Amino acid sequence: MKVFISFDMEGVAGIVDWSQCRAPGQPYEEGRRLLLGEVNAAIDGAIAGGATEIVCNDSHGTMYNLDPAALHGQATYVAGRHKPMYMMQGMETGADAAAGGPGQFSTAAGGPGQFSTAAGGPGQFSTVFMVGYHGSISGESAVLSHTYNPQVISHVEMNGCRVGESGINALVALGLGVPVALITGDRQTIAEADPFLPDAERVVVKESFTRFGAVNLHPDVSRAMITEGATRAMKRLTTMKPPAIQLPAVLDVHMQTADMAEVASWVRGVARSGLRSVRIEGEDPLALFRSFVAVTYITRVSEGR
Ligand SMILES: [Zn+2]
Repeated sequence: MKVFISFDMEGVAGIVDWSQCRAPGQPYEEGRRLLLGEVNAAIDGAIAGGATEIVCNDSHGTMYNLDPAALHGQATYVAGRHKPMYMMQGMETGADAAAGGPGQFSTAAGGPGQFSTAAGGPGQFSTVFMVGYHGSISGESAVLSHTYNPQVISHVEMNGCRVGESGINALVALGLGVPVALITGDRQTIAEADPFLPDAERVVVKESFTRFGAVNLHPDVSRAMITEGATRAMKRLTTMKPPAIQLPAVLDVHMQTADMAEVASWVRGVARSGLRSVRIEGEDPLALFRSFVAVTYITRVSEGR
């Protein structure tokens, strides 16, 4: 069983400030140690539950926050920029290869055990774990909340329900027909995922009281809980369904300025729906996700005061 881990940083126990999430500096060095601990905890739990291969996608900031050699389970590390599938980069590779596209690792090149994720088709991954996830920009107070780009995006709804990164990224899992079996973060993060990931194991590692403050579990405790949650998730996989997102789905993306909505509307599959909003809708969850990612990239040109 192959497990895809998409990990972020703001939802890790002990992290409450941007200085812990951005290099350089001592707070960042501490932050990345905390992150590594929780990612490894999820890997350990996955392996204990029967995982045979782990692919980790570093979805935070520079997207190379960890020492690859420090990852447990000989996990493959998807790192660096820029990622066409952003927080889900590496999961769709199998689908591309199956479709006859230029997969990074061909079947011929992929010997036993080596990059076998790319050798097959959709569904090669058995599940997705979301580790260190955080609350949405428009929800209840949650530490370091944002939805992709806080300079641009002020609120996102999916099928009329407020959604954070967990629900948006779940579109990819839905497109590939696999469940999101584990999510970890603060309590708000877990609550926001609830409508879209009703089956997932949830691990709450901190209680946010503002956007910059939380009561954090000790890292030893958060890690033990994540390991246990990951193992439970693996044991329950056969009964879990892909994310609960009704198709065709509608993503309504609200932005800070009219400029941003205008620029976003230039993206394929994106239509202006208001002065500061755009709508992405359709039957294909992967296409929806790609359009959303393109919006996050292209709107960067319109940031600024
Ligand atoms: Zn992040």
